Amino acid sequence: MSNYLFSKTAYIKGVQCLKQLYLYKYHYKLQDPLSPETLAKFKGGHDFEDAYRASNFPFAVDIEKIAKNRNAYASLTKKALQKQVADIFEATFVHQDVLVMNDVLTRSSGKWEIQEIKNSSELKPTHIQDIALQYFVTKGVLRKELDAKLILNDGKNGYKILDVTTEVKELQPNIEANIKRFKNILSQNDIPKVTIGNHCEDPYKCSFFGYCHKSL
Ligand code: SF4
Repeated sequence: MSNYLFSKTAYIKGVQCLKQLYLYKYHYKLQDPLSPETLAKFKGGHDFEDAYRASNFPFAVDIEKIAKNRNAYASLTKKALQKQVADIFEATFVHQDVLVMNDVLTRSSGKWEIQEIKNSSELKPTHIQDIALQYFVTKGVLRKELDAKLILNDGKNGYKILDVTTEVKELQPNIEANIKRFKNILSQNDIPKVTIGNHCEDPYKCSFFGYCHKSL
């Protein structure tokens, strides 16, 4: 993958806890093993995403499928854009040392749109944080106006498409401030000191929960 300091996954971890961000970047192997429930949830998410993409963008270029390795994602995205490809899966961009991969980057009537697909029937604040970071990075590279849409599960084998462009635009100053804060934390030599608390399981159970709680 192109040079970058942290990914969207790390960013979301940082929003929850600065220690989690630091551990994820520098002590990745200390994470708890994934439970069968978590693995099943990931699979359900991938199946939902694949079904949505196949039924809505049958001619898209899938960067994940054409890349020989992850280092090629950003350059292949650039090439696809130069070839005027209209729909791209896993469109990958790096801006201000942050890497994002858009589930779908699509263009219609001359306007670009990013879509994030979540196998959830309920809109959550983390969904907005997630796509707001993608918006920040993608817009920083493309330098074009974008729309941002979330694709959720309607609970009836279909999709709910939510236009969250306004919410995402409102969050942009917050995203920029977070990136600065996270870079500062990641430049430090020591693991940040954070007391365990409710945030360890909200909005997600922290992937270093076992590591932080083992001495209790
Ligand atoms: S378990 Fe809690 S304190 Fe430890 S890294 Fe995770 S969120 Fe932070």
